[in-house]
Amino acid sequence: MILQTKPRAKAANAQQVPNVIAGKCVRSRSPRSLAKTNPSTGEVIARVPLSTAAELAAALPAAQAAQRQWAAVPVKDRVQVLYKFKRLLEDDLGRLAGLINRENGKTVSEARASIARGVECVEYAASLPMIGNGQVLEVGRGVECKMLRFPLGVVAGITPFNFPLMVPLWMAPLALACGNAFILKPSEQAPLSAVEMAKLLKAAGLPDGLFSVLHGGRDLVEAICDHPDIKAVGFVGSTPVAKAVYRRASAAGKRVRALGGAKNHLVLVPDADPKMAAQNIVDSVTGCCGQRCMAASVLLAIGEVDHVIAKIQARMAALVPGRDLGPLITSASRDKIAGYLARAEKKGARLLLDGRKANNVGAKGGYFLGASIIDRATATHEAARDEIFGPVLTIIRCKTLDEALAIENANPFGNAAAIYTGSGRAAQQFVARAAAGMVGVNIGVPVPREPFPFGGWHDSRFGDGDLTGAAAIDFWSASKKVTTKWEAPAAANWMS
Ligand code: NAD
Repeated sequence: MILQTKPRAKAANAQQVPNVIAGKCVRSRSPRSLAKTNPSTGEVIARVPLSTAAELAAALPAAQAAQRQWAAVPVKDRVQVLYKFKRLLEDDLGRLAGLINRENGKTVSEARASIARGVECVEYAASLPMIGNGQVLEVGRGVECKMLRFPLGVVAGITPFNFPLMVPLWMAPLALACGNAFILKPSEQAPLSAVEMAKLLKAAGLPDGLFSVLHGGRDLVEAICDHPDIKAVGFVGSTPVAKAVYRRASAAGKRVRALGGAKNHLVLVPDADPKMAAQNIVDSVTGCCGQRCMAASVLLAIGEVDHVIAKIQARMAALVPGRDLGPLITSASRDKIAGYLARAEKKGARLLLDGRKANNVGAKGGYFLGASIIDRATATHEAARDEIFGPVLTIIRCKTLDEALAIENANPFGNAAAIYTGSGRAAQQFVARAAAGMVGVNIGVPVPREPFPFGGWHDSRFGDGDLTGAAAIDFWSASKKVTTKWEAPAAANWMS
């Protein structure tokens, strides 16, 4: 057993992470803070302040003043900052990946890939002058209608721990390009990258006040939802919080798009390419130690696919925590997942692979757990139902594609789903009938890359529209429709 929970260093020695307000790093005055540990070692690396509603209110005037000036800057000029920001992110990739590794535990190669994915969002935002133009049409003789976009004002993003830079990069660059000021409330478990992002935006030439970072927890999130001067909220995190943020911010009259958790189902058909399917399924389950909203969680194994499952098992058994697998984000998260394994075992489910027994070469205090497979579960089994958010694959045996689809459709989440098959017909049926916003065919992490938008269905998203891509341009801007006529028409009509 590898469970151990105590942080290894005294929190008192760790430095408090600064907020970033009006372009400056400032110490929060809040008396409350949390210890942030490095998940790979258990050492306390920082203290994260729980900033107050008063600190949010105090940060707003500078953001509003900066936004008023920014709104008057032509979009072609605004995005020049983003071109520089992209270059700075790329130049700094190694250091930033090291930072993500330290605060989140992702392996350095996973961290590098996540930044590269975030850079694509910067590229998309930088292309706003090309893609964000409005419409114009002669709607009557001599009458022209055009649609213009305007910034909303000060907007906010609330982000999860699992992609410390990438998820903020889904939102902030596009919101800034649209002419808004952006306030980022990062996860308490990923506070460091957010501050570096602010520094790089400043170095790229973003005027002070346009990008602020406030650290905090529930109280600060609620203050963001409630504050009348924050016009829109983008949220990414777990389903219960996404739902609460959606309700609270909507009730305060603001725009909100809240992406929630996931329970992604993969369907394995006997005619799938065994090698490709096995490798891809393992990558999907274990990448980022299963701490991805796109990670595979349930395998719906149709018919005779034991030969593929044997390959999956062998590949997952070969993954060594601390070498191939990063840690879980906290000891509590690791212990929670270990609890699922213990209860599955107790209830008689077959543990094809037990991550608690894995050979772990990570540091002693790190929150490591090996990859696990629970076989022959039912759809109502807790491991098949809950978002576990770790390197655990739960297998449900099915007889037909219809049966597999019925299980996939009945789960309340709807982020991603995928099928492994050599049959175009099965793939077509699956794509048509899977109840998820992002669907893969022979791809277990079907992330839509720019310009395709990211977002799920059902309990994986609250609010309409996706959080990246063209839908996000609409989200971060207000449209104004202007109807113009310069000459009196010969005959009067209702538009005269
Ligand atoms: P989380 O919901 O615990 O936290 C997300 C944010 O909400 C953080 O900034 C946190 O400070 C804040 N928060 C936490 N509890 C709160 C509360 N009670 N009231 C108000 N705010 C609160 O999520 P997490 O553990 O940081 O991240 C993992 C979750 O995020 C998983 O469920 C994962 O599936 C989901 N996620 C979803 C997507 C997606 O695109 N759908 C992407 C990444 C992560």
